[in-house]
Amino acid sequence: MSSREDNLQSEFDEHLRFEALLIDLSARFVNVPADQVDSEIEDAQRRICECLRLDSSLLWQWRNMPLERFRLTHMHRPLGGPPAPGPTEVQATFPWAYEQLLAGRMYVNSSLDDLPPEAACDLASFRRHGVKSNVGIPLTVGGGPPVGALTFNTMRAQRTWTEPIVQRLQLVAQIFANALARKYAAADARLHLRELAHLNRVATMGVLATSFAHELNQPLGAILRNAEAAELLLQDAAPDLQELRAIVADIKRDDERASGVIDRLRALLRQRSIELELVDLVRLVTDVVSLAHSAAAARGIRIEGDMPAGIPTVRCDRVHVQQVLLNLITNGMDAIDEAASDDPRVIIRARPAGHHQVEVSVSDTGPGIAPEALPKVFDPFFTTKASGMGMGLAISRSLIEAHGGRLWAGERVARGATFHFTLPISTPKGSA
Ligand code: ADP
Repeated sequence: MSSREDNLQSEFDEHLRFEALLIDLSARFVNVPADQVDSEIEDAQRRICECLRLDSSLLWQWRNMPLERFRLTHMHRPLGGPPAPGPTEVQATFPWAYEQLLAGRMYVNSSLDDLPPEAACDLASFRRHGVKSNVGIPLTVGGGPPVGALTFNTMRAQRTWTEPIVQRLQLVAQIFANALARKYAAADARLHLRELAHLNRVATMGVLATSFAHELNQPLGAILRNAEAAELLLQDAAPDLQELRAIVADIKRDDERASGVIDRLRALLRQRSIELELVDLVRLVTDVVSLAHSAAAARGIRIEGDMPAGIPTVRCDRVHVQQVLLNLITNGMDAIDEAASDDPRVIIRARPAGHHQVEVSVSDTGPGIAPEALPKVFDPFFTTKASGMGMGLAISRSLIEAHGGRLWAGERVARGATFHFTLPISTPKGSA
């Protein structure tokens, strides 16, 4: 074979290999979970560079950046080189390339001689970085303005970027852009859930205001009574110091109780992301029952926890699970209020479910969920209450699902409604 035929053959082989790689990448990116998008992109950059004998691939983004600054977010550059310019330096270092990409224009340089005269500054910078030939492709999503750029460079030798190769690299840029958009959508949804959960918690706290007022009143009342007793003692010419010491100790203890209540309130109201920890579910349910106790008593309702011994520790965000329980308990109490019940009760039960989960259920003795409402109760903004927001169950379901659990309404039984949710236990899969 002549060397020209040799070249054609190796070009053809390269195309075939690249085609196979593209098919594999497209399939991988269809189902890539949001938290693996970054590592998959870097792996794809590496595989493309290896397949086409390229020396580096850089992905820049300017999503949500003020002043549209480039930020290098993904890189494959095994040969190293001078540090990539920081966000504030890109424009000064590569002014021409920067302009092209921001305006949504691709550039293809098989040799640095292809650069136009106005790219003199870029030419010097590319040379300093050892670049011999390169391609820059804007990243766009759904026909919108560019949100970033993907570049490929050779350093060891120049390369001719044929039309088919460039078209396929554009396809790669499209795959990356879509995956990044999905990742950001998932992050936005999480942020949204966090904000909604916070609003819902603030609303639930309103319902529990009676409980908190009651819990605070007890230690505060005791402090006042003790202070009055101390005043009386101090009127004595020779006050009983021992008794005074005991009174001061009582005051300190009650003060700690009151700050404990305030700390719990603060912790519940804090705007927060999901923080997984190992949680004793029995303890958590007991805390929630005591929190809701006074609010329930004021409405003539009893709250009972029915927790068998030996419930395993769960891995969850304590505050979010408390919030779900409070939502379900509040709904149970609202339902009981709606129709007079001769046995007004909300009961919380827990039981191991399968090997890796615990199931918690909240039942009430109200009228139950109306059959026509049942398919809609988890829809956002569905409410049958005059002052309802219709967000409690929707948010609770999202919170439980964020833990890898499920929340559902139980079958209609003779009386009341039952909601169930599952949470993963802390033992990792496969261990005893
Ligand atoms: P809200 O309490 O603001 O209405 P939710 O999302 O918590 O919002 O509940 C939506 C609807 O589901 C309620 O308005 C009610 O119709 C129904 N529902 C929820 N819990 C119960 C229950 N324990 N018994 C009967 N109906 C319920």
